[in-house]
Amino acid sequence: MPDVFADLVGQDEAVDTLRRAAASAAAVLRAAAVAPTTDAAGDEFDALAEEAEGAGAGGAGAGAAVDPGAGMTHAWIFTGPPGSGRSVAARAFAAALQCAYGTGCGQCPGCHTTMAGTHADVRLVVPEGLSIGVNEMRALVLRAASTPSGGRWQVVVIEDADRLTEAAGNALLKAIEEPPPRTVFLLCAPSTHPDDISVTIRSRCRVVPLRQPAAEAVAEVLARRDGVAPDVAQWAAAAAQGHVGRARRLARDPEARTRREAVLAVPRRLTGVGAAFDAASALIEAAEAEAAASVAETDATERAALETALGAGGTGRGAAGAIRGAAGQLKDLEKRQKSRATRAQRDALDRALVDLAGFYRDALTMALRAPVAPVHTDTAALAGAGAQKWDAEGALRRLEAVLECRAAIEANVKPRIAVEAMMLALWKG
Ligand SMILES: [Zn+2]
Repeated sequence: MPDVFADLVGQDEAVDTLRRAAASAAAVLRAAAVAPTTDAAGDEFDALAEEAEGAGAGGAGAGAAVDPGAGMTHAWIFTGPPGSGRSVAARAFAAALQCAYGTGCGQCPGCHTTMAGTHADVRLVVPEGLSIGVNEMRALVLRAASTPSGGRWQVVVIEDADRLTEAAGNALLKAIEEPPPRTVFLLCAPSTHPDDISVTIRSRCRVVPLRQPAAEAVAEVLARRDGVAPDVAQWAAAAAQGHVGRARRLARDPEARTRREAVLAVPRRLTGVGAAFDAASALIEAAEAEAAASVAETDATERAALETALGAGGTGRGAAGAIRGAAGQLKDLEKRQKSRATRAQRDALDRALVDLAGFYRDALTMALRAPVAPVHTDTAALAGAGAQKWDAEGALRRLEAVLECRAAIEANVKPRIAVEAMMLALWKG
């Protein structure tokens, strides 16, 4: 039976750090159990944690005696490129903190329920819209301050902490600055750049950097864990460019493969201005369709649940007031759903742009005769033809056009405008 860290692909260093921290967190609990009157366990382990960080690597290995607190702290940030496993790492660490053995064994109830998302003391914030609002954060911080019902830790995992609004960030900062003794915050963000996470929050957190896993490591886990045939696993791992979740989808979902093929057909289709605009429309519409399909089921379920909760169709005394309140709640739900749909569209479009960037990167490396494996083995011949026709400069300009489009959408340029500009640039070179 694999432990909770088994799904963290190619992140040995980070896993090592987290195992040590989990072991010392368990030691803190043991120490507190021996001397239940010391309420200062929290302060104690903060001081020790600073010491441990100063001492650097070479701490207690598996099985060695651990100081309570060494390597453990109240707030963590997991950073790394999309798909590197930030949230996987945070959840695994949360499980290890709740593990009865303090190791993340993967088998005890603490590990099980955390990994299944049902542990009473682990709260998971997955932003569905474009940002995490202040109300959501305040409610979360409040609940996180309560005593852990399982007697271990209150763990709050915030995926995409870079999507905190400023006010939500401030609410979180307050909690991190004066953490309740048994509360641990785990944030996930692309990087510790001030655009992603505020400098003050960053200064209170310990950072666990994750790297883009090597294609071989991704292929290995697809084959071992998901039973994907080795050659398919290798192809998918390369095509996904180190994104583990994307690699799994490509290996297992025929629709994901079809969408990718449509995206990679774009360079061939750019034969003129009209074709460029057509390609832009096709790309946008494909992203919209993909996003709509991905949120439709959740939307319908939520709406049905809310309508049931509101007792739709009720009559009698007070029904008019209830209906007015219900209208407001339905409106809120629609707003949330719209925000989620926008986010899903952007994510789908971004995946397409990453695939396209991979194609032009292949053309560039071929033009430079660089000894690196292509991202897309199945369009390598086409990329090779492009390399001959465009030269390195032309391939680089096209790659830059794709990256600029991503950056523009990230900076809130209307996706259609950004994609049209990109297609024209790709056609003109
Ligand atoms: Zn366990």
